[in-house]
Amino acid sequence: MSRRVVVLGAGHGGGEVVAALRAGGFDGPLTLVGDEATPPYQRPPLSKSFLLGASPADELLARPRSFYEQQQVDLVLGRRVDHVDTTARTVQVGDESVPYDVLVLALGGRPRMLADPAAAKADNLHQVKTHADVERLRDRLAPGTRVGVVGGGFVGLEVAASARKRGAEVTVLELAPRLLGRVCSEVVAEHVASLHGARGVDVRTGVTGLHLVTGDDGRIARVATDQGIVEVDEVVVGIGMTPETGPAEQAGLAVDDGILVDADYRTSAPDVFAIGDCARVLRPDGSTLRLESAPHAASSARRVAAVILGRETPPDAAPWFWSHQFEVKIQMAGDPSARVSRWVTRGDMAGGSFLTFGIVEDRIVRIEAVDRPAEFAQTKSWLDRPIPSVIDRLADESYSIRQLFARP
Ligand SMILES: Cc1cc2nc3c(=O)[nH]c(=O)nc-3n(C[C@H](O)[C@H](O)[C@H](O)COP(=O)(O)OP(=O)(O)OC[C@H]3O[C@@H](n4cnc5c(N)ncnc54)[C@H](O)[C@@H]3O)c2cc1C
Repeated sequence: MSRRVVVLGAGHGGGEVVAALRAGGFDGPLTLVGDEATPPYQRPPLSKSFLLGASPADELLARPRSFYEQQQVDLVLGRRVDHVDTTARTVQVGDESVPYDVLVLALGGRPRMLADPAAAKADNLHQVKTHADVERLRDRLAPGTRVGVVGGGFVGLEVAASARKRGAEVTVLELAPRLLGRVCSEVVAEHVASLHGARGVDVRTGVTGLHLVTGDDGRIARVATDQGIVEVDEVVVGIGMTPETGPAEQAGLAVDDGILVDADYRTSAPDVFAIGDCARVLRPDGSTLRLESAPHAASSARRVAAVILGRETPPDAAPWFWSHQFEVKIQMAGDPSARVSRWVTRGDMAGGSFLTFGIVEDRIVRIEAVDRPAEFAQTKSWLDRPIPSVIDRLADESYSIRQLFARP
């Protein structure tokens, strides 16, 4: 008899697992449970095109609603699962105890919130995780709306750019000394800061003493900081995500800022996998890595599907991520936690089209590209290989990337 697979979390990774299982010929019972009301959808456009336009949420769907019926996926939406029993092999969905043979946790993460007590109550404070969050924010944006964005990471900056494009007056408040501190090089971060500055976003870094000041109506009226007071109509908090590990912790799985998994995304319990943003992968050198990116959610989903099907697992692609701010495309590849010893930059930084390579000894460990998609794509597969002669010439544009990386 076919094994029954249950997937918890109907987001980016969860949707990919069920699709990859059916595409790979899995014909057993398949259940996908999620606490949002919508089938799996793309989150990256939320802070970009979806915030800019007035398109309906259905345009974000990863697959049409009919897909789940056609593929005989039992799609259970609007249900939060908090209880998993790995001995009885069941999950509690509402009043029903659903059995599984294989369980995949694809729970994503929760946006972090400011500890400020005003944050819990104010109606004009926003987070950006679901399409419902963004629809609410979108409805409040008009030319002249004063928006304070707390957090200068990718989500905060994308919201800032989209809000500015819609005519809002935007101030970004970042606590760290520079933007994008956790995720990209100083060169790219500086470029992004000047891009926002040139488009009229007030970017403040190294901000301390931030607190929200509420007016008589209970709304946040201003954000006070050591760098002055910012009057606001709406506040967006984009200060990162916490991996959703609740059901795993309750079930007694190994968890450490993410559900701990091996290279095939197996958790510490038999036949239970965890993928995407909620998973922390143990690497051969003993270090661990948790990635928050759409390509990673998809590739980990495909790998788990192959493991469940008993097929050879596809090699893991190098981590990569992209962002759109104003008209600019930023792409990054390689382990964001890699300790880069030097950066080599190629291209026209002033003109806003360049790549920067993070180097360790004779290897490229990071690639970041600003409006250079073709060269980014050509170099990505060379990460982590010893290429000393190429590294010496990276900055020299008289050599094309194709020449430099020609295979012997
Ligand atoms: C605004 C925004 C912009 C982004 N932009 C980019 C980008 O440009 N590029 C990029 O690579 N990545 C981007 N990302 C990140 C990317 O969307 C995530 O990395 C990806 O969605 C992770 O997939 P996932 O399946 O792990 O989690 P999710 O897609 O978050 O799905 C998890 C799902 O599980 C549900 N869930 C959680 N707990 C339970 C429970 N107990 N019971 C039932 N359901 C539960 C959640 O509600 C959610 O629907 C962005 C994310 C956001 C929010």
